[in-house]
Amino acid sequence: MSCVFCLINEGKIPSKKIYEDDKVIAILDISQATYGHTLVIPKEHYDDIFSMPLDLYLHLQEVVHKLAKEITTKLNASSCNILNNNGELAGQTVKHFHVHILPRYENDDLKITFTDHGNKVDLDELKNKLA
Ligand code: 5GP
Ligand code: ZN
Repeated sequence: MSCVFCLINEGKIPSKKIYEDDKVIAILDISQATYGHTLVIPKEHYDDIFSMPLDLYLHLQEVVHKLAKEITTKLNASSCNILNNNGELAGQTVKHFHVHILPRYENDDLKITFTDHGNKVDLDELKNKLA
């Protein structure tokens, strides 16, 4: 199967790679939503978190942990968002699992908004559904 991240991993589409091991690569996101915006991507194709094996997911998150610290420090960013979209409604546009590392800066224009719907949800009922 050939998706854009598989093609990048195979070297058929150029990318700016900042990390590589036997299972994972990290490349600079072409959109640079914030300065240093990086994607951590498994070499093997999995659509999303739901299909990804746990050991690979844990390894990838270990790389995210290392790179988040390094990127934030090296670029003198004050903060950092880690984001992973799974499915179209969640905003996933490339159907090959990936985690965004987004260094944050004073006055950058990235918007992530959590609207408070707490007063419309019965938390006990919800807890019973999930626990
Ligand atoms: P998603 O919306 O699926 O969570 O994120 C996909 C990301 O992949 C977007 O931030 C987009 O800019 C990035 N992207 C899409 N095509 C390419 C590409 O060819 N090269 C790189 N480096 N990033 C890409
Ligand atoms: Zn792929």
